[in-house]
Amino acid sequence: MDFIDLKSQYQASRELINERIQRVLDHGQYIMGPEVAELEAALASYTGARHCITVASGTEALLIALMALGVKPGDEVITTPFTFIATAEAIVLLGATPVFVDIDPVTCNLDPGQIEAQITARTRAILPVSLYGQPADMDEINAIAARHGLAVVEDGAQSFGADYRGRKSGNLSTIGCTSFFPSKPLGCYGDGGALFTSDDDLARAMREIRVHGQSRRYVHTRVGVGGRMDTLQCAIVLAKLPLFDWELRQRQRAAATYAARLDGQVALVGVRPDRSSVHAQYTVRLEQRGALQQALQAAGIPTAVHYPVPVHMQPAYASLSAGAGCPVARAYADEVMSLPMGPYLTDEDIHKVCDALLHAVAACRQEAATA
Ligand SMILES: *Cc1c(COP(=O)(O)O)cnc(C)c1O
Repeated sequence: MDFIDLKSQYQASRELINERIQRVLDHGQYIMGPEVAELEAALASYTGARHCITVASGTEALLIALMALGVKPGDEVITTPFTFIATAEAIVLLGATPVFVDIDPVTCNLDPGQIEAQITARTRAILPVSLYGQPADMDEINAIAARHGLAVVEDGAQSFGADYRGRKSGNLSTIGCTSFFPSKPLGCYGDGGALFTSDDDLARAMREIRVHGQSRRYVHTRVGVGGRMDTLQCAIVLAKLPLFDWELRQRQRAAATYAARLDGQVALVGVRPDRSSVHAQYTVRLEQRGALQQALQAAGIPTAVHYPVPVHMQPAYASLSAGAGCPVARAYADEVMSLPMGPYLTDEDIHKVCDALLHAVAACRQEAATA
């Protein structure tokens, strides 16, 4: 069993993907070829955002978003410590300070109730992450930001396709970022990412920053990066789009099957009724995670931990960050475990995972009771 089965996904869209790749090889415009603008138009329309700007990766999307907002040394950006390192990395690379606010124990997303206490005169932006595929509490966060004149950047690297109160992830705040890393819900076959905004000035700034801050050829109006997504990767995402909504339904099916088996036995991540999760990961919480991971591995079931150390506890980040101790994030980092997930995971596989997990959980409990 694969943790994420990319081979079946390729087989499902094989003809279209091959045809799209061949077309790029034939026209030879590997950088900024016609598929780039085609994908940007398709994704803008999918999310409802006025602008989509494809970029080299999700990490690059975060960096370019913060650069476009003018985040600079001495500024503070409020974010969650319970995320992939890239979220905070983009802040620190610009010389700004990540200010960590703890997560909501139900959703594992940034707790909006704890944000306002961390806002200072130096705060420039709030950077929530839509973790595991579920949008953060964006309206509450947007309202706080509006009261304090701050921008909101959604790290939607895991949540492309998710719905939130009738809108799509990516189109829920000043700027939305996503990633097309192969294992994300909408993946390419290398690195890729995208930015979304409905602000024309920010869109222009981000387009320029993506290409070395260039407003016209060899006219560099601002400092930028080499941050383009290549034509082949855009072609691959385009070829995967026709099946994407079906794949999201399959992810929901897999998540529902997991929940039906596991609810009440292990702690699950709650999905709020006003939004959907695209389940980039299906993550549960367990005491004795180490022993359970080993038991599953012995049964041939791969698992992963998203994420074992909160960002503010990472060696390179501890001295660069500010904010509260984030006790929920710290506790959860010791307990979370992600199970195999994806649109091509069969119900049979899910039952195999659940049988093995529940068996191992019972054995662990038995052992603890007799110890
Ligand atoms: C994957 C991921 C990123 C980075 O995306 P890349 O395309 O790998 O650079 C950033 N934030 C989160 C939450 C992610 O899961």
